[in-house]
Amino acid sequence: MKVLVLNCGSSSLKYQLFDMTSEKVLAKGLVERIGIDGSRVKHEKTGIEPLKFDIPIPNHKVGIKVVLDTLLDGDQGVIRGLDELRAVGHRVVHGGEKFARSVIVTPEVLEVIEECVPLAPLHNPANLMGIKAMMEVLPYVPQVAVFDTAFHQTMPDYAYIYGLPFHYYEKQRVRRYGFHGTSHFYVAYRAAEMLEKPIEDLKIVTCHLGNGSSISAVRGGRSIDTSLGFGTVPGVLMGTRCGDIDPTVILYLMEQDGIDPKSMSHIIHKESGLQGISGISSDLRDVEEAAAEGNDRARLALDILCYGIRKHVCAYAGAMGGIDAIVFTAGIGENSTTVRKMVCQGLEFLGAKINLERNNVRGKEAFINEPDSRVSIMVVPTNEELVIARDTRELAIG
Ligand code: AMP
Repeated sequence: MKVLVLNCGSSSLKYQLFDMTSEKVLAKGLVERIGIDGSRVKHEKTGIEPLKFDIPIPNHKVGIKVVLDTLLDGDQGVIRGLDELRAVGHRVVHGGEKFARSVIVTPEVLEVIEECVPLAPLHNPANLMGIKAMMEVLPYVPQVAVFDTAFHQTMPDYAYIYGLPFHYYEKQRVRRYGFHGTSHFYVAYRAAEMLEKPIEDLKIVTCHLGNGSSISAVRGGRSIDTSLGFGTVPGVLMGTRCGDIDPTVILYLMEQDGIDPKSMSHIIHKESGLQGISGISSDLRDVEEAAAEGNDRARLALDILCYGIRKHVCAYAGAMGGIDAIVFTAGIGENSTTVRKMVCQGLEFLGAKINLERNNVRGKEAFINEPDSRVSIMVVPTNEELVIARDTRELAIG
């Protein structure tokens, strides 16, 4: 039983083909520079050297055809006929307030994803393009949409309503939505399995730390708060995004320097964060290296990042009325021993004691706390594609 998982960006397309009997990945790949000169494909059949080739790909429909041809290819392929594909799962960034779980794609679902375009103007149009192209190429195969926002729809109103005049929520749906929901869901449930405890009994803070980052409070398996909001800027410091700032700073800079909304948006999304503070790079590895060599702005960027994460962990322990586990995931969370160490030092009062030897782990599941730590500290590599594949199997195949 094979399920294809698709994640479409505006000029790229990532895919993974799962055998859902074993939940193993048979092949995965990436199509880049769709609609731009120099389109290329990277395809990796599990266990075989990756295949890379250049081919003109003017749009997503052509990209999808190239992917399907590659999956059918004699040497590199993993299926003999398209009828082996039982369903396709799509990552969709924004489902607004309409989707609290994954759904089979219908014309009504497409309409709602379209309605959410103003809330995610960069992502939802690309996600829609991918779904529509796939529906044209494989019209008889069920398509499932899995939303980044869905897991956070369980937040209570007092966690998602901003202190603005209420009509901005009522009329324009301005509220905290949160993102990375599929990742927070996966690592929280996986952590419960590793702890061998029912998720219903657990209070977990999940730290998804990558180029984009968010922290979530997951109580009894439900997200009750999360650090990203209406958009993808607030919360902790990110690669190029500023995280929490006083909104009057934005007004002040726009007025004082005559900055227009588009340029201001660029500043807070693309010029800030690790990049903006360190002046070196948005990539944490470069910042860590510079800090170790004595660069003071790199040191400051690292301190701001870890201080922000620690504050969120404590705030969410308060929000949940306790804490049983802290889970680190995504590029930084899974790999940076430095960030995990700096975040946890100072959390002993909560009952969270990190073991520095156990912390010396990268990219695999591990407990990194002292044996007598009341709070478990864990590394859980995320797997959003597997969640999408499982939801797709459940909804489309049963
Ligand atoms: P992601 O967006 O999840 O791919 O995460 C990207 C971030 O993970 C970048 O800031 C990388 O610098 C960081 N990262 C990846 N590997 C490491 C590593 N070994 N040590 C520190 N940071 C890492």
